[in-house]
Amino acid sequence: MGRLIASTGQALDVGEVAMAPLFLSKPKSRCSCGARLTACPVWGAVPEELRQLPPRPANRHDHAALLRAILEVSTQQTIVDSSKTAALLAFRPHFLSRTLPVKLYLVHLVRDPRAVVWSVVRDRRTRRDQPSVWRDVLLAAKTSLVWQAANVAAELQGLWFAPDMIRLRYDHFVRFGTPRTLEGILPQGAQEGVTHESGIGDYHSLGGNAMRNEKTVVVRLDDAWRTQMPRHLLYLATVLSFPFIVRYRFGLGPGGAR
Ligand SMILES: [Zn+2]
Repeated sequence: MGRLIASTGQALDVGEVAMAPLFLSKPKSRCSCGARLTACPVWGAVPEELRQLPPRPANRHDHAALLRAILEVSTQQTIVDSSKTAALLAFRPHFLSRTLPVKLYLVHLVRDPRAVVWSVVRDRRTRRDQPSVWRDVLLAAKTSLVWQAANVAAELQGLWFAPDMIRLRYDHFVRFGTPRTLEGILPQGAQEGVTHESGIGDYHSLGGNAMRNEKTVVVRLDDAWRTQMPRHLLYLATVLSFPFIVRYRFGLGPGGAR
């Protein structure tokens, strides 16, 4: 998502800032811009004391200090911090909004819980030789509940940040494009099949998905869950996530709202 936003040329994407200390202390780490961190125009300008933070997720004060350092060197007015706030850093946006000298907007990117569950179970299956029905069921239940908790946190953040929190449904964005509230921040129009080349946009990400370092990224909607997910896992994830499936208008069946 950060890469897509940076591709508009109107924003600086710096990846998951909360996770930056895990990479900043490693001298050979590379930024997604291709440069070593010490040579990167964004991360290379971070003060030495922040470069030496313990290699674990940043606490709220260090997180704010990292963002302040980035603000000082940014030539863009919009900075995207992709730190995943909903589950583990639920109260971080409140702190940052009170501490930073800029206006903070939250993007609540929400994906159908059945897609999330199937992605996790499928990934686990590829890494294990022996399939296990019960292991899949437990993993599906756990993932559904974590998804639910993350969205409860996002809803609470919405109470605090409204109207400065924008909800974006993953499938809808890929298929149909940006809601009006995000025009000018996200690329316009349907994203399915759109190719993003490296070197376009202000894109300086450290952690996160491995695709951040790929030269070319083609946006593809992963909705394999609709046809591949076993029925018992589909029903389980639907029942456990039922209230939010209704609230976010995902549709109850595999052929439901897209
Ligand atoms: Zn860089």
